Amino acid sequence: MATRVLIGALRKTTSRLPTCRFLSVSPVSRFASTLVIAEHEGGSIKAPSLSAVEAAKSLDKDNSISMLLAGSGHSLQEAAANAVSCHPSVSKVLVADSDRFIHPLAEPWAKLIQLVQQRENFSHIVVASGSFGKNILPRAAALLDVSPVTDVIGISESTTFVRPIYAGNALCTVRYTGAHPCMLTIRSTSFQVQPYSTDSKAHKAPISQVDLSTFEEDTIGKSQYVKLTSQDSERPDLGNSRIVVTGGRGLKSAENFKMLEKLAEKLGAAVGATRAAVDAGFVPNDLQVGQTGKIVAPELYMAFGVSGAIQHLAGMRDSKVIVAVNRDADAPIFQVADYGLVGDLFEVIPELLEKLPEKK
Ligand SMILES: Cc1cc2nc3c(=O)[nH]c(=O)nc-3n(C[C@H](O)[C@H](O)[C@H](O)COP(=O)(O)OP(=O)(O)OC[C@H]3O[C@@H](n4cnc5c(N)ncnc54)[C@H](O)[C@@H]3O)c2cc1C
Repeated sequence: MATRVLIGALRKTTSRLPTCRFLSVSPVSRFASTLVIAEHEGGSIKAPSLSAVEAAKSLDKDNSISMLLAGSGHSLQEAAANAVSCHPSVSKVLVADSDRFIHPLAEPWAKLIQLVQQRENFSHIVVASGSFGKNILPRAAALLDVSPVTDVIGISESTTFVRPIYAGNALCTVRYTGAHPCMLTIRSTSFQVQPYSTDSKAHKAPISQVDLSTFEEDTIGKSQYVKLTSQDSERPDLGNSRIVVTGGRGLKSAENFKMLEKLAEKLGAAVGATRAAVDAGFVPNDLQVGQTGKIVAPELYMAFGVSGAIQHLAGMRDSKVIVAVNRDADAPIFQVADYGLVGDLFEVIPELLEKLPEKK
C-alpha cells in the first residue's frame, strides 16, 4: 500500500457538537420505578434490551427496575428463565403469556403496556430504539396520554435527557415535564452494558405473571402480521457487531460487494452499506447504516467508497475507531476518520484480503 497517502488520525467527538438546552420544572417523582420493555429471540434477551436496563439504571440510583417480556410458548419461558439473571439491576420480571404477543404488532403490545402501567404506576418506561421499540412506544404513549422522549443518548437526571437532532449534528438537552410515566426510547449504542461480578450473576429476580383477564380484545387486529423475511447468515448482527465493514456507491456493483463480504468473513465483521449502495440495489436495505438506517457504534468501523454524507455519519459517528478508504482526499468521511487512506478500494480490499489471515 506504499503508493497511498495515510491521512492519519483525525478525531471525531460528539462533545464537539453544538448543544442546546430546553429546561423547565418536572412533576415526575424523585424515586424512579422503571419498566423496561424487553425484546427476546430464541429464548434470549436481545442485547439492546440489556442496554435499556443500563439506561434505566442511570435514571436514579435507587431505581427499581422491572422487565416486561411477552410472547408465548417455550421461547417465552426460556426467555423468562434467562431474564431473571440477565442483569443484576432487574428486580422483577413480568411475563405476559399469550399468542397475541408472539409478533411485535403495535396494537396488542401498546395495550399490554397500558394495562401493566395502570396496575404498577411506573415513573418511567424504557425501550431500546430499534424497530421494535419505535413501533410500539409511540402508540403506548398515546394510550397513556404522554409524550415520549425518543433516541436518548444521555441521562443526567431522572427527567433530563440528551438526544441528537439535525441528523446527529447537534445534541439537545431536554427535560420531561409531563405526567407519569416518562417514556423513553434509548440508543443502545450509548448505554454499554457494564461487566458485572460473579456474585451479581447469581442474582435471580422473581417472575410475576401478568394477569391478562381484563385485556381488551377489541383493540387488536388493526394490523396483521404477514411474515418475517431474514437473511440466514453466519455473520454477526449489524447492530451489535464489534467490527463493521461498510461499502458505498464507490463499490459500483452487487458483484463487487462480495469482496467486502469476504473481508467481513475474515474479520468476523458485519457488512453495512450506505443508502446510495442500497438504492442502487447492491445490497438489501437492512444493511443500511445512517439516519434512516441502523445506528451502529462498533469498536472498528471501516468505510470503503463512502463519501461521508451527514445522513450516513448520523449512523456511525460514535464508532470507537473509524477507518476510511476513499480515492478523493477531500471526501467528508476523512473529517470523522481516525485513519484515512486515499486510494482505490479495488486495490486496497484485494490487498487486505491477501494479507489478512483466514479466520479460525
Ligand atoms: C432524508 C435523507 C436520509 C438519508 N439517510 C441516509 C442513511 O441512513 N444512510 C446513508 O448512507 N445515506 C443516507 N442518505 C443519503 C446521503 O445523503 C448520501 O447520498 C449517501 O450517504 C451517499 O452514499 P455514498 O457515500 O455511498 O455515495 P457517494 O456520495 O456517491 O460517495 C461515493 C464515494 O465513493 C468514492 N469512490 C468512488 N470510487 C472509488 C474507488 N474506486 N475507491 C475508493 N473510493 C471510491 C468517491 O470518491 C465518493 O466519495 C439520506 C439522504 C436523505 C435526504
